[in-house]
Amino acid sequence: MSRRWRWLAFGLALGALAVVERLRPLRRRKEPGADRVGRNLVIGLLAGATTAASEWPVVGPAQRLAERRRIGLLRWLPLPKGLRVVVGFLLLDYTLYLWHRLNHRVWYLWRFHAVHHIDLDLDSTTGLRFHFGELLMAAGFRAAQVLLLGVDRETLRLWQQMLVLSVVFHHSNLGLPIEAERGLVAFLVTPRMHGIHHSTRVEETDSNYSSLLSCWDRLHRSLRLNVAQSSVTIGVQGFTRPEDVTLVASLALPFLPDRRLLPAARASGTDAY
Ligand SMILES: [Zn+2]
Repeated sequence: MSRRWRWLAFGLALGALAVVERLRPLRRRKEPGADRVGRNLVIGLLAGATTAASEWPVVGPAQRLAERRRIGLLRWLPLPKGLRVVVGFLLLDYTLYLWHRLNHRVWYLWRFHAVHHIDLDLDSTTGLRFHFGELLMAAGFRAAQVLLLGVDRETLRLWQQMLVLSVVFHHSNLGLPIEAERGLVAFLVTPRMHGIHHSTRVEETDSNYSSLLSCWDRLHRSLRLNVAQSSVTIGVQGFTRPEDVTLVASLALPFLPDRRLLPAARASGTDAY
């Protein structure tokens, strides 16, 4: 499929999900107006432009260098082509799980990733709402994945396309029938599973880090499913008002010292700011 058709298909899928998640909502909205959607789309456009721009000077050269010099784990292992694609896909998804955990653990990374988490609601537009700084660092991480793992560009493209669809889907506010959720979550990250990761409660945020396949949380015992969505408050402690999450406040957040994001504030588990 050409790039233009892929974008059209992605736009249609996003539009359809935006309609369906309003017809069958999973959680009640706190900011139901158009302001929040507009803000998330602007942040998402900046994020998309950053990812596209970093492809040329960062990820592309890393891929070409790895191919030219035959660098990376999968190029050193004598695996048949089909198995190399499967193992490459799994390793890309597993290392993203580790990167997501780092984004919550390392203070410098958390300041950027928190921009995604402070959204007061969770729906498909939250899946676009990543600070451009986070995606710039993610491009560096992607280059490291390419060089260390030695995945070929077809496997990388396949995984990236499935990841984008998964990210928009699991951030959505789509209330799937519980049987469908249970069937899907055995393999994939679902809206209920990821909703728990976006909770203001630290112990719930510190779970469900997977982004496509749900097995990584099972492997690391970080999976948490026994939390009712009605008991989940979406957001980050201390960021409870719409004024805390405006477009300007969101874009400026990583660059301003904000004690609400400090590890001590997370550990205290209080909302007294
Ligand atoms: Zn997160």
